[in-house]
Amino acid sequence: MKFQASFTEFKASFTEFNRSYPMPHAPTSACDYDGVSFWKPDVTDNHHQRQRIISTFAIALSVTACSFTPGITPQVKPKELPTKPNPVQVSQKNLTSQINSPSQLPAKVETLNFTVPATFQGKTVYHVQPNNNEKVIALSIDDGPWPNTTLQMLDILKQNDVKATFFWVGQALQANPEIAKRVVAEGHAIGNHTWHHWYRRMDEATAKSEIDSTNELIYKTTGVKTSLFRPPGGVLNNGLAAYAKSQKDAVVMWSQTSADTDPRAKYQVFVKNVLRDAKPGSIVLMHDGGGDRKRTVQALPEIISGLKQQGYRFVTVPELLAMQK
Ligand SMILES: [Zn+2]
Repeated sequence: MKFQASFTEFKASFTEFNRSYPMPHAPTSACDYDGVSFWKPDVTDNHHQRQRIISTFAIALSVTACSFTPGITPQVKPKELPTKPNPVQVSQKNLTSQINSPSQLPAKVETLNFTVPATFQGKTVYHVQPNNNEKVIALSIDDGPWPNTTLQMLDILKQNDVKATFFWVGQALQANPEIAKRVVAEGHAIGNHTWHHWYRRMDEATAKSEIDSTNELIYKTTGVKTSLFRPPGGVLNNGLAAYAKSQKDAVVMWSQTSADTDPRAKYQVFVKNVLRDAKPGSIVLMHDGGGDRKRTVQALPEIISGLKQQGYRFVTVPELLAMQK
């Protein structure tokens, strides 16, 4: 895991986060992200102060990775779902003109099942090593579907003939089903990003509910079945990733971030972050929802053109996983 922002920036993010969205439960351990211990408390030192710093660091990390604004009633329980799926029909009647222009619809959606190769089932993946070191890269877009920004990003992706991978939050999907249908109709891949976007440690029943209810709504809304899971904030030790792995999902992290949740950075910084670190097989993190993502929308065309200039071809995460040598 790479930490590109300074501790001062983390601390600033944390202060902002705490002011806006006080968390009832802080992450219980910041020392172990998928087995990688980056800071072990030293009890002979000033333990309490260090624990405070660790907590700050952990929460700020989460904010940096994925700050979700619970603007849709965060405590709402997944409501009863209809028994029959209402999948994406690639028909002009299915979508409103605000959501999609009928002339823009593709002839067909290639797949509604986003499975992962056996080598990645139940595994955590940050990037792949593609055959022949081919210059392929996957854009991953978290926390939607979201009004305005998702649609704007879809327009940009379409104009540039780029397919991305969207990791959806259940409650955001519940609020924006028509936007979700457009995402699927335009051929992008879909992953699960839990119902509530919680970071806290949870028991297995809660983790199961967070993931299963979101998968069910994805299916009922769009007809998509997905084995891609991304834990909110990239937190791998709070029960969610363990449950996802038990279901043979791939836990999809990222190898480079646009850092587009930094509240102070200009959009050009997001562009620079992505272009500087691009490698064959990279998975790039950015966001269409969970907050004001205007700057991400601004950055996206330059990210795409810059990567194309470097010789990259865009693939979805499932396509990328299938290219592992
Ligand atoms: Zn997120």
